[in-house]
This record gives sequence, structure tokens and C-alpha cells, in this order.
Amino acid sequence: MPGFSIEQMSALLAALPDPAFVLTESGLYAAVFGGTDARYYHDGTGLVGQRMADVLAPDKAAWFLQEIHQTLAGGRLHVVEYGLSGRDIKGLPAEGPQETIWFEGRVQPLAFTVRGERAVLWVASNITERHDLEHRLRQLSETDELTGLANRRRLMETLASHHEAFVRYGTPTSVLLFDIDHFKRINDEQGHGCGDEALRLAAQVCRGELRATDIATRLGGDEFVVLMPYTRPQDAADIAERLRLQMALALAELGGPGPGATISAGLSEFQASDTSPEEVLKRADAGLYEAKRQGRNQVRMVAD
Ligand code: GH3
Ligand code: MG
Repeated sequence: MPGFSIEQMSALLAALPDPAFVLTESGLYAAVFGGTDARYYHDGTGLVGQRMADVLAPDKAAWFLQEIHQTLAGGRLHVVEYGLSGRDIKGLPAEGPQETIWFEGRVQPLAFTVRGERAVLWVASNITERHDLEHRLRQLSETDELTGLANRRRLMETLASHHEAFVRYGTPTSVLLFDIDHFKRINDEQGHGCGDEALRLAAQVCRGELRATDIATRLGGDEFVVLMPYTRPQDAADIAERLRLQMALALAELGGPGPGATISAGLSEFQASDTSPEEVLKRADAGLYEAKRQGRNQVRMVAD
């Protein structure tokens, strides 16, 4: 390059804030330039001359190799995103970040061979802040603020993915839709704050009673939906009954000598004739309506 000596070029490469690795197609760290910002990066110079299989956890090494091969096959810039923690890399110096670091890797095929092999230039940029912010935003957008349960958006996404599993593999999912009986009375007689507390209590009972694979969500107002994957309604009915009893116990203690509250619920499962994931919700809603009509404080199963 005009104007720069080899020494100056080396100094320029060394001054690059993000590390740039030269990686060969067999997984050799042939060189590393830059990456001098210790806030974001460990010193990678110790990796030079080593093989990925010797320094990285096996699944990470396999992943890097695959991305290198994909870049070489594609013949142009390839952008990847990945996380690395101290556990994934052997022999790094103790200094530098401890937590999982998220990277954007911009990977370019090189037009020349390195030690007789095809190779890529892999520039790794620390995007942890952006990644964590995106994660928090996603969580916020999928969480009901009052109860901390998943919200309608998350319910619909989860319902769709379980419906897909049902269509493909026949994996059953039961859906319970419940609503607090005479909730307006709590609001009217004991105040809106007490109503809010009742909703939070209902969420707490769900958390306490359900299995880790079950997903409790607040659909809106005083309506909640519980997804029970891998569960037939016959078994879900026992869980629903337990939930109904526990809910009445929890809500009885609400705000002192008030009337307490119970729940009514409809229960159904995915069916082969369903044309969309929402149909199970409609059936559960019909069950809920029937439970209300029959005097409340009960669970109604709807088969079709
Ligand atoms: P039913 O037994 O038929 O369900 O009678 P209900 O009084 O519970 O009637 P409904 O389910 O229609 O009432 C829902 C009420 O929930 C109406 C609304 O004012 C109240 N509500 C909705 N969202 C909130 C909330 O976030 N906090 C409080 N405190 N109340 C809410
Ligand atoms: Mg209600």
C-alpha cells in the first residue's frame, strides 16, 4: 500500500480495536491482529498456532469450522452471531470479561492460501450490550406487567409452536382457560388495588401448582390461560381441579373479610380437525361459558 512501510502496516493492524483472526479451513488460528480493547476482549495472541479443536469446547469448535467452510463455499462476506464464555475456551488469560460475551463475526474468504490452506479473515465484534438489550426488550414485550406471567403475545407464539408439534408428531397439548368469578365485585367492594392483588395471587397459585413445562399466561382482564404440553385432558382435569381448589383458598384470604373468589374454567386439547392453533382456545372458551352458566366455580371439559 502506498505511503506505509511494512512496519507501519503491522502497527496499524495491531491497533485495530476489534480482533481479526486468520483462520484456516482445518481450524488453525494462523494469526490474530488487533483486539486491543481489554474492556471487550481477551488477548487472543495466545491462540496463534493452536487448533480450534484443542482450545474450544467440541460443539463450539465444530460450529466455527462449519461457518468457515460455509464462508469459503459462499465466496463472500458471511455474518454470524454467537456467544462465548470462559468455559468455551481453554487457556485464556484470567484478565478480561468473565460473563458470556456475544459476538458478531464478519467472516471474509481470503484470496490467498495460508500455510497451504484456504483461509478466512474473521473479525469479531463484541455486541453483548445490544444482545442483552434485545433480550430484555423481548422479555418485556412478552410479559404481563401486573402478574409477571407471559402475556397474550407469548401465549399465541407458544400455542402455535405446540400446535406445530401436534400436527407433525401428534404430541398432545391441553389448554385451560379460566376466569375469576364475579371479579367486578372485588373491584367494586374492596377496591381496584385489591382486584390487582387477586390477579397477582392467581398468578402465584399458577406458579406454585404447575409443572415447569406448563405455561401460565394472562390473556387480559381476569382471564388466564394455562398450556399443558404433553398432557391429555384426562390428566389435565386433575391439575385443573387442584388449581380451582388452591385458587379458592388463596383468594379467600384476600383483603380481609370479603366474599373471597373462585374461578370457572374450560378445558380442551388440540384436535386433528383444527385448522388453526386458536381453535382450541375457542373450545376452552365455550367450556368456560358453560361453567359460568352452570353456576361458576367449576371446570368444564370440551372434547369437540
Ligand atoms: P364473571 O363471573 O361472569 O366472570 O363476572 P366478572 O365480574 O368477573 O366479570 P368479568 O370477567 O367480565 O369482569 C372482568 C373485570 O375485570 C372487568 C374489569 O374492570 C376488571 N379488570 C380488568 N383488568 C383489570 C386489572 O388489571 N385490574 C383490576 N383490578 N381489574 C381489572
Ligand atoms: Mg370474571
